[in-house]
Amino acid sequence: MEERRCPYCDEVINLNAKKCKHCGEFLDPTLVAANGGGVGQSAKKMLPAFILCWFFGAFGVHRFYVGKTGTGIIQLFTLGGLGIWALIDLITIVMGNFTDADGNKINQWT
Ligand SMILES: [Zn+2]
Repeated sequence: MEERRCPYCDEVINLNAKKCKHCGEFLDPTLVAANGGGVGQSAKKMLPAFILCWFFGAFGVHRFYVGKTGTGIIQLFTLGGLGIWALIDLITIVMGNFTDADGNKINQWT
């Protein structure tokens, strides 16, 4: 079983616990990731990714921009998953949840 420490009371708790059993605080899994899950902030920006996805999303250009060349090529040949995949990417970018090739979140507009 993987364990970590509660950020509120510093007791050892289950890695996937939603709520600390010691102090009763609710634990945000995104905070856990930011504090040592290896997920950081990307140097890439949301605005260029958004513009590229808006105009050229069907060609996977936004994925080339963030370094995801493999899935970019797949999008290029499937026309962005017939537009659906590109649309999902567009929404993900706007939400600030799109990640670059290293798994870092792209959550700044400029
Ligand atoms: Zn706690």
